Amino acid sequence: MTAPSHTDSSLPTTSSTSVFQAMFDAADAALLTLDANGVITLCNPAAQQLLGYPAAELCGRHPGCLLAAERLEQECRQLAQRLGRSVAEVEVFTAEVRPGHSLQREWPLLDKQGREHTVRLSVTAIAGVGPNSGYMLVLQDITELKRMQQLMHRQHALFAAGPMVAFSCHPARPDVLVEVSPNVADILGCFPEDILLEPAWWLQRLHPDDRPCLADGQWRLAQGAGFVTRRYRFLHGSGHWCWLEEYVQQLGSDVVQGYWIDVTKQVDGEDRLTKIASNIPGMLYQFSTNPDGAGHFSYVSEGVRSIFGVSPQQVMHNTDLVWQRVFPDDQQRVKEESEAALRYEQPWISEFRILLPDGRMIWVEGRATPELQDDQSVRWHGLISEITQRKRTEEALRESQERLDMAMRGARIGLWDWHVALGRLDYNQQLVDMLGYDQHTLHCNPAQWQALVHPDDLPTVRHNIRALLKREARQYRIEYRLIKRSGEIMWILDKGQATEVDGNGNVCRIVGTVQDITTHKQAQKLLESSEAHFRMLFQNHGAVMILIDPDSGQIVDANASAVRFYGYRRDELVGMPVSQINLMEEERIRGTMGVALLQAHNHFTFTHRLASGELRTVDVHSSPVESGGRTLLFSIIHDITARRQAEDALSTLQRQLLAIIENFHGAILLEDQNGSVVLVNQQYCEMFMPDQTPEQLKASSRLHVAAQASAGFAEPERMLQRLEELQRSRQMVLGEEWALRDGRMLERDHVPIFIEGRLRSVLWVYRDISSRKKQEEALRQLATTDALTGIANRRSFMEKLVDEFARFLRFGNPVAVLMLDIDHFKQVNDTWGHAVGDKVLHDFAALCQQEVRQVDVLGRLGGEEFAVILPGCGMAGALALAERLREAVRAHVVHVGEASLQIHTSIGVSCFSRQQQDAAVALALADQALYEAKLAGRDQVKAFDGNGQRFPPGD
Ligand code: GH3
Ligand code: MG
Ligand code: MG
Repeated sequence: MTAPSHTDSSLPTTSSTSVFQAMFDAADAALLTLDANGVITLCNPAAQQLLGYPAAELCGRHPGCLLAAERLEQECRQLAQRLGRSVAEVEVFTAEVRPGHSLQREWPLLDKQGREHTVRLSVTAIAGVGPNSGYMLVLQDITELKRMQQLMHRQHALFAAGPMVAFSCHPARPDVLVEVSPNVADILGCFPEDILLEPAWWLQRLHPDDRPCLADGQWRLAQGAGFVTRRYRFLHGSGHWCWLEEYVQQLGSDVVQGYWIDVTKQVDGEDRLTKIASNIPGMLYQFSTNPDGAGHFSYVSEGVRSIFGVSPQQVMHNTDLVWQRVFPDDQQRVKEESEAALRYEQPWISEFRILLPDGRMIWVEGRATPELQDDQSVRWHGLISEITQRKRTEEALRESQERLDMAMRGARIGLWDWHVALGRLDYNQQLVDMLGYDQHTLHCNPAQWQALVHPDDLPTVRHNIRALLKREARQYRIEYRLIKRSGEIMWILDKGQATEVDGNGNVCRIVGTVQDITTHKQAQKLLESSEAHFRMLFQNHGAVMILIDPDSGQIVDANASAVRFYGYRRDELVGMPVSQINLMEEERIRGTMGVALLQAHNHFTFTHRLASGELRTVDVHSSPVESGGRTLLFSIIHDITARRQAEDALSTLQRQLLAIIENFHGAILLEDQNGSVVLVNQQYCEMFMPDQTPEQLKASSRLHVAAQASAGFAEPERMLQRLEELQRSRQMVLGEEWALRDGRMLERDHVPIFIEGRLRSVLWVYRDISSRKKQEEALRQLATTDALTGIANRRSFMEKLVDEFARFLRFGNPVAVLMLDIDHFKQVNDTWGHAVGDKVLHDFAALCQQEVRQVDVLGRLGGEEFAVILPGCGMAGALALAERLREAVRAHVVHVGEASLQIHTSIGVSCFSRQQQDAAVALALADQALYEAKLAGRDQVKAFDGNGQRFPPGD
């Protein structure tokens, strides 16, 4: 800063300080004094008001901070370059000011609220001694002026060439035009000077017919920042009437701006507003509402078609057509906004949506000014224009901003922005959130940031920042710890980058991104410890484990169990090609490793060779593991040799069993504990259901199979019933005999099979015993029948006699016994030969069999002796029968060739009695009676009763 060297004007002396102060404070213009270094020392109330800062905040600051940033930067840079000083030191306002000179400029300036003002700035250097030298700044706000100038400038340019005449006047004096555009001469044939000089000029030139409707209260239409349009006839400078369209608008509080357009040519047959309205995009309207709330349109431009999709005529008739089109969600708000506008006599401005009849939705902006009429009705002058495109753009912008925010938020990326020269560090919300602070507690300065860095990491952070500031590096990327507000430690990845360098080559801005990598760091740590765990587990695990490098096909590591199993030392195993222990060809080993790597399949069975040369069958589970950045195959090996051998043995046994079952002489059905058929053999099918195969019966229910099989049994019902009994009893029953319908006999075994105390299955075995049964029957016949006569032999007779005696003792029914002996049989033999004797014996038996009842038992006791048991027969009955028999024998003639012979028999009768000791007693008594009959001359019947008394008594 150049200090003023001589005095031209000076700061007030101490004696006049109070006068200066009073003037300073009272001045309309904003005044600031600066010291020699350009720092603000004083400011008056006007300056405080203009800049929006209290004096305390202004004093001590640099006026540079008030300038619009962009402009400041540009200026600073240029100036700094020229002066060879750093930007921060440059004082823009005073640099060019030499004592005795003043500088006047227009400057953009930001007030405390961020509003931009244009000020006319005068800087005067004040020479003083020491601290008294400095500068005086006068700031005059010319923002409005500038705006108006720009506006007028634009309008004049516009109207000079256009068909519209522009004019302006004061709202209070509508009859006096203050300004009129020069083209009035071309369009109305009048000179601007004439018009401006003559009050009420305009009124005088109105057509008499149009005057009444315009004369009264005409300007009031334009009041309240609204606008009016009207049409009337006007006397052209050349003396003819022309039609004018007038558009009047109030701008600010003291200007009414209007336009005229000569519409004479178009006026015929045209609506008076159509043309203007159609030149304005959107819908122009006048709408009146009565105090009772009812309303109607007094004018609607054609634009209503594009905004509401209806014609002006329709709307004029039915106001609701417009209102109904307003999107339902917006209706209430629009209503409230218009009511508020009316209440506070403010223009109504509202953005809302409209649903067009074709289903499209558009955004519109409505603007209208309410005007209270004498009759208390309100007339709205409005314009509704479409802003869909603008809304979309806004929306798109907002969305893209949101997306960016979301992406940042989603990625948990924080941002910081360090303005080095200003000493300010800005953070985005995400970063503030990450740290657990809020915008109020996290201060925007680098010092606080350093305080957040973990002390151990601070040197690294400082080192990297310094490198950026020294321009030794353009960016850095470091991981370090931050201490969150909660005291927790957060690991971050900080990527800083110098983004701006000032004119002196100093880095003035550094921007960085911050990512929370705490979880990542924790995972890394966990990984490290989990690797250690894995190592422990691997080494000490009881299972055989090896790690293989799939690229080289070599064993990378083997655990203690593997060393034991393979019989190699660990250092021998490590580095050994897998092919040395795996018998498979190398190509195929590689193939299986590839499969395991892809995790398509990870279970294999191999044959491994041990160090001893012994071969073992092993199950191998292989899966890829990441280790030290490589993918290895982790294999767990199970020796399944013994299991394999057992399995093989089992399978052989199974096959043998099946062969036995198939070849078993008999039908087999095996069912499980649920009653499902597990197995049947071919014989079973052949025996019971020849049209089925064992396969078909498998898995069907036992009941179903039994029902089918039962059809072949002689007693199907009983058979099924018995099945159920057996099933319930769970008892083993062997050799149960069953007859089939076709006469065959079956023998059945029911064998429940218990394993570890639980019923697991039931085996049914059927054997065909028909032929055996036949043999047995024949043997039985042989044993009990006399071969010559076919009647019971002695043994069989005696058994029956014993049975009958037992029955007698039980039931008490009388049983008689006869003994018969052929008389002089020896002579028959002697006379006719033994063969005829045999024939006589045969005939005698047949004769007796004919005579006795079915229940009677006839037996040959030996030689020519016979006996008969007569159950249910008393002594009298027995005697009668004996007589009948004796007679029948007598009457019988035995033919021998041409010859014939006759025989006789003697018969002894007796019966059972309870006094008898056993069955033989009665037979002995009968034999005794027979002896008597022989003695008495033969061919006779003699009897003793059960007690050995003659019968009948006295005989
Ligand atoms: P009696 O009237 O006293 O009974 O005179 P008998 O001749 O019938 O008596 P005896 O008991 O002396 O004779 C029985 C004879 O029956 C003796 C024997 O040769 C004969 N005999 C025994 N068994 C058979 C046989 O199976 N076939 C034939 N043809 N003769 C038999
Ligand atoms: Mg005899
Ligand atoms: Mg005899």
